Amino acid sequence: MQTLYDALASFWQIWSFNLTLDVGRYVVAAGGLAAILKLFWNTGLGRRKIQPRSASRADVRREILASLRTGVLFSLTGVGITLGAMYGVFTIHTDFEVAGIGYLAVSLLGIIVAHDAYFYWTHRLMHHPRLYRYFHRTHHRSVTPTPFAAYAFDVPEALLMAAFTPLWLLFVPMHVVGLFLFMAFMIIRNVMGHAGVELMPRSLADSRWFGWINATTHHDLHHSSFHYNYGLYFTWWDHLMGTEHPAYRQQLRGHREIGAARRFAKAADARAEVRA
Ligand SMILES: [Zn+2]
Ligand SMILES: [Zn+2]
Repeated sequence: MQTLYDALASFWQIWSFNLTLDVGRYVVAAGGLAAILKLFWNTGLGRRKIQPRSASRADVRREILASLRTGVLFSLTGVGITLGAMYGVFTIHTDFEVAGIGYLAVSLLGIIVAHDAYFYWTHRLMHHPRLYRYFHRTHHRSVTPTPFAAYAFDVPEALLMAAFTPLWLLFVPMHVVGLFLFMAFMIIRNVMGHAGVELMPRSLADSRWFGWINATTHHDLHHSSFHYNYGLYFTWWDHLMGTEHPAYRQQLRGHREIGAARRFAKAADARAEVRA
């Protein structure tokens, strides 16, 4: 009995830590960005709104509830990762003696680049007509996303997203600080992509050096047009696979005539049909 009690107590200890981390980072990042948008709306941010439509209160409520469920699922994966590290399945360094700052930096860059690829390909998979309604429909209920849509996933999508970190850890040891920074980067970029307001400099559209970084318009167009821009952090997979929205760069430059994006998309679809 004592053993069961001990096991439950340590499970709760690990789970509550992960729950605070996963739900907490969502609440802080999404709530924080929503507060910033509200605070600075009239001082210029409002002019950078991407879509003419605004999300309703019901949209936001739905996004928050689905995201909190995802946070709980992520925290259970976190328990698995913690236990995996305790029992030697994963290597997570807690000091800098074996793996120093250099390793931390390289492994952090590696996990971000790998996660971008994982996201792109699992995202395309979830758009497959056979999988879409089970995996990805909830996320696309947000046609005009808000920061709260960051984790608004169906359960299978949440599990697919959660699977990335343990998979990566099977092959690459990480520093605990690196994992923490990765989680912070992930949620910050995620809420930025759903901000509904362009937060990046418009010069990204034509930048030779930084044009590969996703602006908010990039993911916003994915929500409004559905068929383009599957990438998360970087534009290179969409570039390479020909799935970048034809009007992305133009819209990012600030051409906000509303029909423009759709006209471009329609024209591109028509061209694709002619080719097929
Ligand atoms: Zn999608
Ligand atoms: Zn999204």
